[in-house]
Order: sequence, then C-alpha cells, then structure tokens
Amino acid sequence: MIEVKDLTKFYQIGDMEVRALDGVSLKINDGEMVSIMGPSGSGKSTLMAILGCLDTPTSGMYWIDGEEVEKMNENQLANLRAHKIGFVFQQFNLLPRTDALENVMLPLVYDGMPSKERIERAKEALEIVGLADRMHHHPNQLSGGQQQRVAIARALVNQPSILLADEPTGNLDSKTGAEIIAIFQKLHRERHQTVVYVTHDAFTARHTERIIHLADGQVKSEEIVAQPLIAAVSAPRETDANKKETAMKQEAVV
Ligand code: ADP
Ligand code: MG
Repeated sequence: MIEVKDLTKFYQIGDMEVRALDGVSLKINDGEMVSIMGPSGSGKSTLMAILGCLDTPTSGMYWIDGEEVEKMNENQLANLRAHKIGFVFQQFNLLPRTDALENVMLPLVYDGMPSKERIERAKEALEIVGLADRMHHHPNQLSGGQQQRVAIARALVNQPSILLADEPTGNLDSKTGAEIIAIFQKLHRERHQTVVYVTHDAFTARHTERIIHLADGQVKSEEIVAQPLIAAVSAPRETDANKKETAMKQEAVV
C-alpha cells in the first residue's frame, strides 16, 4: 500500500516559486488499478517521480507498506527501488545498443543473481508482455509499442509490488496505446498487480477503477469508475505493415 500526506514540491526559479505539488494526500491499496489524470503542468510527473522514489518532496510524508520513506537509509532506499517499485516512462528509456533480453535483465545485475537465473527471469517477463519472440531485437528494431512492452517487462522483472507508469501511452498511437493498457489490465486481473498510471486523457483514465484528478499541484477530486473500460486485447500481432517496418529497420541497422 502507498500513502502520501501533504506532499509538496517547490522549485525556486529566480524570485518565483513554482509549486509543482501543493499539498497532495492520497492512498493506493494493494491490488488497485488507479489513474492520475490532469492537464500538462499539473504536477503528474513530479508526483510519480516521488512515488517511484526517483525524487524527494520538499515536505510531506510518504509510506510504502507502512514504512516511512524519508526515514530510510541509502541501502534501504536502493532495496525499495529495486524490489517494490517498477517504473515505466513515456519515452521507454531503453538502452539502445543492447537487445530486449539484456534491457530486461538490467535491474537484476545489481542483485548478484547468477546469470542463468537472470536470463530465465527476463525471459519470463518478456513472455508476460508477449515479446518472447523478440528478445534478441535491439530497440531500433522494435516498434514503439514493442519498445514500451520491453520497458514494462524490465519494470516487472523484480516482481515489484507497485507498477508506476508516467504517460505510458503518450508516445503511441491510440491502437498501440490500447495494447499497453491491456497489458496493465491483465497484470492487474491475473496477478493482482498494483498499477498506477498517469494520463492526460480521459478515455485512457477510464480503463482504471479509480481516477485521481490533479490540477495545479493539488488533488481536486477522486472518481470511482463503476465499470472500467476494457482495452483491446493485445495478442502479439504481426500486421503486414509492421512486418515491413521491422524489416526496414533491420536493414537500416545492417
Ligand atoms: P505534468 O507532468 O503534469 O505535466 P510536471 O510535474 O512535469 O507536470 O510539472 C509541474 C510543474 O512544475 C510545472 O509548472 C513545471 O514547469 C514545474 N517543474 C517541474 N519540474 C521542474 C524543475 N526541475 N524545475 C522547475 N520547475 C519544474
Ligand atoms: Mg509529465
């Protein structure tokens, strides 16, 4: 479970104070699927970075599974980032010169896990996102949607209790975006995975059970979605168009 109370994040730019977060309190229970929605500049990325322990607040409290994040030492924080939190970015953030499998294995490198076990775990994660057949492709040989699926596999490889995603469909067309949301819904439904994603899009938000509306760095309202929309099923598909695209990219690389 995650809980934050009176979270603020202020930036001082010259004489101006930017209040990116201005007193945010919220709770997310285990197994919930929640979206955080708000216009550009409302503080969504700032909030997600703090929830993902990638950034620290100016003030306020944050608990993960009852433990106060601010009281943790560097080791405990590193452990928390490695094992409790999976983070998915809008821009995928994959390493360009390594294949999908190595990208997914990366978070395990720091664990001193034997390489055979790391490979197994990474393959499993790629299977979950339907990309086992692409594990030796480099990011530039994959479509945007496939790259995001690799990024989700990387976020899942440590079996985090919370999966956080900042505008995960922001760089994708609506059909590919739906496939990404379908993966989140499957993880939530079949694995009881806690999923929190940010979006500025109402339709994308309606695929979750609860929408937290953010504006001007504050929670303006919360909305229960009685019947979340179901995203188009993301069976690994190979249309002629994306076959051709992949082939062209491979040629470009050779
Ligand atoms: P969103 O993700 O909802 O678009 P952000 O969290 O990125 O919003 O930003 C919220 C506000 O904080 C914006 O006004 C933005 O300009 C400001 N902000 C974010 N990061 C910084 C920073 N590093 N320095 C100064 N201002 C920032
Ligand atoms: Mg943002």
